[in-house]
Order: sequence, then structure tokens, then C-alpha cells
Amino acid sequence: MIERTLVLLKPDAVQRCFVGEIITRFERVGLKIVGMKMVWVDKEFSRKHYSDHVDKPFYPGLENFITEGPVIAMVLEGIHAVEVVRKLVGPTEPKQAPPGTIRGDFSHHSYAYTDKKGIAIKNLIHASGSVEDAKKEVSLWFKPEELHSYKTVHDVHTL
Ligand code: AMP
Repeated sequence: MIERTLVLLKPDAVQRCFVGEIITRFERVGLKIVGMKMVWVDKEFSRKHYSDHVDKPFYPGLENFITEGPVIAMVLEGIHAVEVVRKLVGPTEPKQAPPGTIRGDFSHHSYAYTDKKGIAIKNLIHASGSVEDAKKEVSLWFKPEELHSYKTVHDVHTL
């Protein structure tokens, strides 16, 4: 039940200076940061990360977005971490994301707007969609030696 999941703070989150605010949300529920780095991805890496989306009409805008500046890549560990992170992040379309979620609190883009402009929906975060995706994405973004096992207070109070 203890899972690891990949979280990216996308270029909009970094450029809007929300890195600390967003990481705080994950830390305060007790998720453990087991890997973290700043990466400026190129188009080739974008095509690997978004391999399921490469043929979709919105992919060119998504590639422009994810390569426009550095991202913060993190691996978070915790009980049902994949599902818990997705709950904290909220739905893909910020317009629909409820208050209290990261996307709902810090963004408001809609598909109607981004489709018209031919840009990606700027929604601050990528979070792995399933345990299977998380395994693939963690190994794409991080080498084994970049991931760390250590104890936090939650190993005493939560686990
Ligand atoms: P996902 O793999 O579900 O995170 O989707 C990848 C990313 O593509 C989303 O987080 C959005 O930034 C973007 N995206 C997904 N669907 C659309 C869409 N219909 N129009 C524009 N951008 C999209």
C-alpha cells in the first residue's frame, strides 16, 4: 500500500513562484519527498513523458508548454500516494477544480479557452495517473541513486 508517485511542478508553477506553496500541501498531509530536482526538458524528452498524447491535437501546445522553462520533478511516497496526490491536485481542467485543490486554488484555465488559443491547459502540475504509470514515470525521470529512503516523523505517527 506504500506507493511512490511522480509529481512535476510545470513551468507555470515555477514561473508563478508557487513551488513552496505547492510542496507544503504535499508535506502537510504527511507525504514523503524521496527525490527532487529541477529539470529543463527538451522536445525529445517531452515526447517520451507524454508518449500517450503525442498524436493528440493538443500535443504541440503541450510540448511548447512543458519545454518553455524548468520544472521541479519530485517523487512522493506514502500510503496510496498516487490517489492521494491526485486528490490534492484536483481535476485536469482548472475551471472545474474545486477550491481546496491545488489547481482550484491557483489556476482557472478552461479547455474552451485553450482550444481556441491553440495552447495547452496550464494546470500547474503533472501527477501520475495510476500505480503502473507511476512506476514507468519514476524510472523515466529518476535514476535509482537519486531516490532516497529515510525516516520522517510520519514513520512514527502515521505508519
Ligand atoms: P495528463 O497526462 O492527463 O496529465 O495530460 C497531460 C496534460 O496535457 C494535462 O495535464 C494538460 O496540461 C494537457 N491537456 C490534456 N488535455 C488537454 C486538452 N484537451 N487541451 C489542452 N491541453 C490538454
